[in-house]
Order: sequence, then C-alpha cells, then structure tokens
Amino acid sequence: MAMMDELFGINVFNDSVMRQRLPQETYRALHKTIDEGRRLDPQVASVVANAMKDWALEHGATHYTHWFQPLNSVTAEKHDAFISPVSGGKVVQEFSGKELVRGEADASSLPSGGLRSTFEARGYTTWDPTSYAFIKDRVLCIPTAYCSYSGEALDKKTPLLRSMEALNRQAVRILHLFGRMDATRVTPTVGPEQEYFLVDKNLFDQRSDLIFAGRTLFGAKAPKGQELGDHFFGTIQTRVQAFMAELNEELWKLGVLAKTEHNETAPAQHEMAPIYSIANVACDHNQLTMEMMKKVARRHDLVCLLDEKPFAGVNGSGKHNNWSMFTNTGYNLLNPGDSPHESAQFLLFLTSVIKAVDDYQDLLRASVASAGNDERLGGFEAPPSVISIFLGDELTEILEALEAGSDYSGREKSEMTIGVHMLPKFPKDTTDRNRTSPFAFTGNKFEFRSLGSSASISDANVVLNTIVAESLRQFADELEAADDFRNALHDLIVRNIKEHKRIIFNGNNYSDEWRKEAEKRGLTFLDSTVDALPCYTAEKNISVFEIHKVLSEAELRSRRDIGLDAYAKIINIEAETMLMMVRRQILPSVIRFAGDVAGSVQKIGAAGCALQSGVDQLSALCGETDSLDHAAVCLADALNGKPGTEDPAVFARYMHDRVLPAMKEVRIHADALEQMTDKTYWPFPTYDELLFSVR
Ligand code: ADP
Ligand code: MG
Repeated sequence: MAMMDELFGINVFNDSVMRQRLPQETYRALHKTIDEGRRLDPQVASVVANAMKDWALEHGATHYTHWFQPLNSVTAEKHDAFISPVSGGKVVQEFSGKELVRGEADASSLPSGGLRSTFEARGYTTWDPTSYAFIKDRVLCIPTAYCSYSGEALDKKTPLLRSMEALNRQAVRILHLFGRMDATRVTPTVGPEQEYFLVDKNLFDQRSDLIFAGRTLFGAKAPKGQELGDHFFGTIQTRVQAFMAELNEELWKLGVLAKTEHNETAPAQHEMAPIYSIANVACDHNQLTMEMMKKVARRHDLVCLLDEKPFAGVNGSGKHNNWSMFTNTGYNLLNPGDSPHESAQFLLFLTSVIKAVDDYQDLLRASVASAGNDERLGGFEAPPSVISIFLGDELTEILEALEAGSDYSGREKSEMTIGVHMLPKFPKDTTDRNRTSPFAFTGNKFEFRSLGSSASISDANVVLNTIVAESLRQFADELEAADDFRNALHDLIVRNIKEHKRIIFNGNNYSDEWRKEAEKRGLTFLDSTVDALPCYTAEKNISVFEIHKVLSEAELRSRRDIGLDAYAKIINIEAETMLMMVRRQILPSVIRFAGDVAGSVQKIGAAGCALQSGVDQLSALCGETDSLDHAAVCLADALNGKPGTEDPAVFARYMHDRVLPAMKEVRIHADALEQMTDKTYWPFPTYDELLFSVR
C-alpha cells in the first residue's frame, strides 16, 4: 500500500491542488465563494475549469460529469468526454467555465413528484464549490445541485445547502448577542456511521429476493443468531478484512475520512465511521461510501447489502447521524465550555435543539421514513418511531435545577445562575450512553440514530438544520428585543425547559412502559412511513420550511409524494418477488419432497413396516403446503385489487394495510416449510449459509 500522504485525496481537486494550480487571485476569489457562499464570477470559473481539466487529464480522466443526487436517494451521472472537434478531423480536449458551473440534465425519468412535467424534462445542475471535485473511474465528477428551470429543487443537495444557510443566519444572530463578533459563519457538521452486511456473491445470486428487493423475504432463523454477542467488535474475518482494507484505500483516494471499522451486532454485519465534516460534504461522501462499498464488495466476490433489514431475527442496519454546529473560528457550539459565558451560550444552543425536536417530532420521523426502515424502527433493535431526547442524568439534573430555581445537587452547592456560573464538569461519556434513544446528546454533539442505512443523510439533516434554525430565530427575536440580556436569557432558557422537557427521556426506549409514558406525555406516534410522510405538508411544517426558504409547499408536496410512491412500489416489488419464489421455487420443491416422502412411506409399508413418523411428516407437510398456497392466493388477490398510482397516498396506504399483512402470512408458512423440508430439496440458500459463510 502506498504511503498515506501519497494516497489521501489523490483523486480530489482539493485546496492544496487549487493553491498549486490556480493563479493567486483566482484562488482567492474562489475561496471567497467557498467561505462566504458568494456567486462565482464567470471569468474565475473559466480559469478554474481549465486548471481542473488539466489536472483531471493528468490523472487519467477522459470524461466529466455533473454528479448529483436526485430524489430517489441514489446519485446520478451522465458522462461527457472532454473532446471538441477542430479542423483536420482532430479533436482537442476542452472544458469551459460554463460547463463547470452549469449543466443541463435531460432527466425525464428521474422522479420529480409533479414539479416537472415530462414535456419540460430538462433541469439544470449547478456546481457546489464547497464540495471538492473528484475523479472516479476516469470521470471528473463535479458535485452539483439539480433544479428545474423555474428553480425548484429536484434533488437532495439544494435543500441541504439552503438549510445550512438558514442555520447559519440564525446562529450568527445569537452569537452576536453574546458579543462574539468574530463569528461570521456557523456550519453544521455531520459524522454518519454507516452499517452494512456482506454476503457471499455466489449465495446472493441464488436468491431472487436479495436480487430484486435487497433483502430476504423468506428465511427461518439459523440455530445461532446474535445472542452470544460474539460478533460485535469481534475479530474481523480474513475476507472481510481484505474488503475493508481496499474500501479504505478507495475512500481515502477520494478524500473521504474513513476512520473506524468494526463488526456490528448481527452476524455478517459491519460498520464504517468517517471523521465528521461539514454537512453537505458529509452527505456527498456518504453517497460515495455506499457506492464504493458495493463496488469493492464485488471485487471480493461479496455483495454489500445496505437494506435496513436484510434478515429477520437479527439486527438491521442504520446510520447514526452525529450532528453539531461549528463557528468559522473553530468553536463547537454544543461544547459545554470552560467559562460561565460559554456555559450560558451552550445552554441556549442546547435548549434550541430540545425545543426544535419537541416542536417537530413529526418532521424528524418523516425524514427517516422508508419501507426498509419501517422493518427496523421499534423492533427492539433500533429506536422506536416515537422521538425523544437522551441527555444523560447529569445534564438532565442541571436543567431540572434551573427550572426549579434550586441548588444543583451535583458537585457545586450554590444555585446556578446562567451567565454567572459555569456548568459543572460532566463526563463526555461513552459509559452512560443510551443506545435505545433516537436522539442522544453525546458530550459535544447530538446523535440522531433513526436513519436507515440505505437512505441519503440529506433529508434528516435538512430537517435538523431547519428546525434548529427556527428555534434560534425565535430566541434571537426575543433576546434582541430585551433590555437586560442576562435576565432575558435566564427566563428564556427556564421557560423553554418547562415547555419542552416532555421530550427528554433517559430510560429504555424499547420498553412497553415508555410507549405508555410517551402517550401520557402527548408525544407523536407515527408507526409507519404511510403515517409519517404526510406530515411534510402539515401547516406548521410548510410554514417552518417557507420561513427559512428551505423548501416551498410545492417542493414539500413533491417529496411527500415521491416518498409514498417509492414506498408503495417497493412493497409491490417485494410482493411480486414473493409470489414468484413461492410458485416457481418453494411449492414445486416442497411438493416434490412430499412425493418422495410418500413414496418412501409406501415402500417401507410394502416391506412390512408401518412408518408412523413418515405418515405424520407427510400430513404435516401437506397441511403446511396447502396453507402456503392459500396465503399466496390471498396475496395475489390483494395485489390484484391495488389502486392506480395516480394518488400516491392512496396507493401507499393500500400497500401498507392490505399487501404487507398478506406478505407476512405467506412468509410464516414458507419459513415453517423450510424447517420441515430436506435441505437438499430447498430451492435457495438459507440463513445459516448466508449469515455465516464469509470468513
Ligand atoms: P462514538 O464512537 O463514541 O459514538 P466518536 O467520537 O467515535 O463517538 O464519533 C462518532 C462519529 O461522530 C464520528 O463520525 C465522529 O467524527 C463524529 N463526530 C465527533 N464529533 C462531532 C461533531 N462535533 N460534529 C459532528 N460529528 C462529530
Ligand atoms: Mg456512535
């Protein structure tokens, strides 16, 4: 392996490359754009484009693409060669400022949720200069946002950039109230921990459900699951280690700060965590990470499963979204700090998050909604769909003391006054971390743990940035109008703790008692995607997105509808796959097996021996086979009765209420048959093979 300093970022047009290759004034102008979110001057763009092209050609690139993230959560690219014809039948390799800054994408097949009719198919892509261009597979990739001609966001990056801007605006207002005039910019930082499964490619290829749905739709439990806890942090298997080493190398070349790797809870499950970066870059890098995981796995005869629940009975995969806010002066606003002044400021930012999460529980839940994630949330392995905040006992006690105006019973005996006293030191702990909580404070950041493993992290961060911006806007309005800042600050914090403390819960989120308690507290229950996604267009939610200019009502409607449509279509694909596997694989195999058992029973009988166990087995097999056939007929009926796709809400509701339960019934009988059938007759690899074969 090459030395790290030769390897890291070798395929990235990053700051040091720009410094080397751009004329000084171009470099400075570009930096102004990057640091201050300014518009890029066309002349600057053309110098940058030329330098970028030369660099890309030297690094073996032949094409360029505007790399963007449409609303179906994958990344899209259309490659253009650098060539331009000149006289004499020759070509030169060119790349203009215009081509760098703006592209046209005829992307009529990408979902737009009614924002763009197919006859107005074209949209345009715009460079996001805060995320470095990079080379992947000999293609220069330029991270871009994708909008319709009338400027509506058709992608995941546009609203993310807008939400970062909104948070910046409001957070800077607050910092100026605290006299921090040197803070001119606040940026959200994100570190997404990515979970995934690896299965053997040869086994994967034999299962239509893995091929079409990305998850198993059948499969009886293996004799061993995760009950011994021997996989989590366990020694990494040789084949997996080779995969991880190559993945790291590929990611480092792309400038992704791949840092931590380990085995996760379920057998065949693993995790990679990068070092955090600014939110839009973290999002781009997470998309790249998922792509590389799939690609590199193939090179090792493995398949990487990013689905939220590939296997029943063992944990599914999520993505923990670590989130904080940093000033341009390098200060983490969720760091409790070392002085009374910092303590007060920290408490205000902390309170802004508590208020935001309480006011917009529904939006946070909607931001992680998908068919795959529904299988995982609330299943005693991942946070429930009710959102709450874990603060830890120390911090909760401080807030309670503030609210009651009483002594803080911890280390200090005196009453704590905001702005006068420092927060007592509380451990930046990993010990009392509550893994059941959807939203946990972990010392100097929040960790939103409900995200699905295959989703773009954009949606969740768009919501987080926007709702915290809204708390900060209200706080800034109130504090800017106050005569006595310190008193007003104290009142505001205490009042908000009172109003929003119902969202704080430090106990076990998996327990039944919590469900009851959460109901008593009036928290929001949105158990499925069909319940959650319509929240995007609730009046209060349209209002918060519009106030901060993050998403318009039409853009919100499009996101809601695309999500519901995708949900319904995913269930449809899964149901069709199930029927295909039952009719063309499971039933024929089981009937053949039953026939052979019958033949054996007969033969043994003819030999003068009555094999009662054989008769019993046969009758159990026949009964279960009939039940499976019946369940499959019911599922087919349910599918036949499905409504059209015109109204995604109706379509999704039907698939949830009618088709999902019919699928569950089919699975019960198929899994029972798997356990009664001679292994050599079973038509595809089973859980014991899929989960334990990669060594
Ligand atoms: P732990 O392993 O205890 O969860 P780590 O320190 O390893 O915590 O961090 C987990 C993830 O959180 C990593 O991606 C890390 O870079 C990220 N992270 C750490 N600090 C911040 C922060 N201030 N803002 C956003 N992400 C952060
Ligand atoms: Mg963590």
